[in-house]
Amino acid sequence: MTLDIHSGPRAKKSLGQNFLHDKNIANRIVDELDIGPCDKVIEIGPGPGALTHLIHARKPAWFAILEKDFHWATEHRRNPPAGAPDMQVVLTDALLFPWENLAPGQRWKVIGNLPYNVASPLMWDILSRATGLVRAVFMIQKEVADRIVATPHGKQYGALSVWLQSFCVPKRLFIVPPSVFKPRPKVDSAVVRFTPLPLEERDFDAAALSWLLKACFQQRRKQIQTILKGYLGKDMESVFAEANVQSTARPENLTPKQFQILATTMKNWIPA
Ligand code: SAM
Repeated sequence: MTLDIHSGPRAKKSLGQNFLHDKNIANRIVDELDIGPCDKVIEIGPGPGALTHLIHARKPAWFAILEKDFHWATEHRRNPPAGAPDMQVVLTDALLFPWENLAPGQRWKVIGNLPYNVASPLMWDILSRATGLVRAVFMIQKEVADRIVATPHGKQYGALSVWLQSFCVPKRLFIVPPSVFKPRPKVDSAVVRFTPLPLEERDFDAAALSWLLKACFQQRRKQIQTILKGYLGKDMESVFAEANVQSTARPENLTPKQFQILATTMKNWIPA
């Protein structure tokens, strides 16, 4: 059972509240998480609960919802779904959640129809810090989904594509039209499934990669040598040679792997 959208306050734009009211689409999204009896599931932003009761009905081992809106968190505390597992309701900003606590050894899964205004920073944090994550499914703006799955050499390829593809394999599953939300957003949405890469494939310096991506994609039309010469000085050619990167390349021409190697090489060359 979903809580009544009309019984609550007006949808809050500041919290990215566009509530889904299509049960078939809600079921398709939850199906993609492939919930099993050993899974520990976290839902971000349940709102009135279009996904929440469907997740609970699939009986994960443990289930928590993170909601920033006092009204909807309170409603879920008052009207929890019946039966096991007990649903933990956490009134919080998901951006402040300690995602690194989702450590290996447990089957962590995260799902959400994400608030569009914070979707990118949320995915940036969750997919890089939750090392025990086995799957995530998010509904986001279609345009952001396209950037996440973009490949080198195109306009949509950027820091978000490189960063997320360094930690997982994203797959855009299906498009969701504005007509199934209240209120209607102005743009299409898309559902994306993220499958984390094995931890042994993440053998790069994440802090260095994050820094490098921000530095490079702020000036994406410039050559790598122009962007980085102030940082590398006389060591620049040696660093590029070690990372096997052409100094005349532009950020959008480098693969995630090249960025990872360049970041780690730079970190090793520049004294702490
Ligand atoms: N899951 C519901 C659905 O599919 O209809 C609501 C989705 S609505 C797009 C986004 C939800 O995220 C809202 O309930 C909103 O209050 C909540 N939210 C917004 N910012 C948040 C944040 N920083 N942390 C946790 N929840 C947040």
